[in-house]
Amino acid sequence: MSLWPNLPFHPEETLLSYADRLSVFHTGRGAERLLKDLGINTEHFTAGREEAVVAFTRAVEIPLKDAQQSSIRVFSRGASFRDENISKSFLSPRAARYCPYCLVEDGPRSDHRFRLIWGFRHVVRCDRHSCRLVVAPHVSIGRQS
Ligand SMILES: [Zn+2]
Repeated sequence: MSLWPNLPFHPEETLLSYADRLSVFHTGRGAERLLKDLGINTEHFTAGREEAVVAFTRAVEIPLKDAQQSSIRVFSRGASFRDENISKSFLSPRAARYCPYCLVEDGPRSDHRFRLIWGFRHVVRCDRHSCRLVVAPHVSIGRQS
C-alpha cells in the first residue's frame, strides 16, 4: 500500500494517535489495520517496543527520534517516557482523557491529535478551552491500560 500522501506528525501528539490518524486516512479504519498491513505487531507497538517503533518509522518515513519522544514504553511492572522511569498510572500511552473542543478544532478524524499531555494523570483540564477533559469512551487499539 502507498502511504502517500503522508500526514504530518505533530510533536504534541502520541505516536499511537499518529498511527491511528494515518490508518484512518489510508484505510478508513483504526491503527490496528495499518500496523497489520505493515507487518508490525500491534501489542508491541502499543507497548512502545523499540523494534516495533523502528519498523513503523521506517515504513511511514518519520524520524525515529521524533517517534521516540512521543512514545511511552510500557513494561510489565512500569513504564518509561523520554528515558525517565515512570509509574504506569502516571502517564497513559494512549490519551485516557481528551478535550472535545480541541478535537473539533482539529477537524476530521484523520486530523484528531490525541495530545501526550492528556495522558498525564494530573492533567484534568484543557487550559486552552478552560474545560474539563472527557474520559475517552474506548481505546482504539490494543488492550493494555
Ligand atoms: Zn481543548
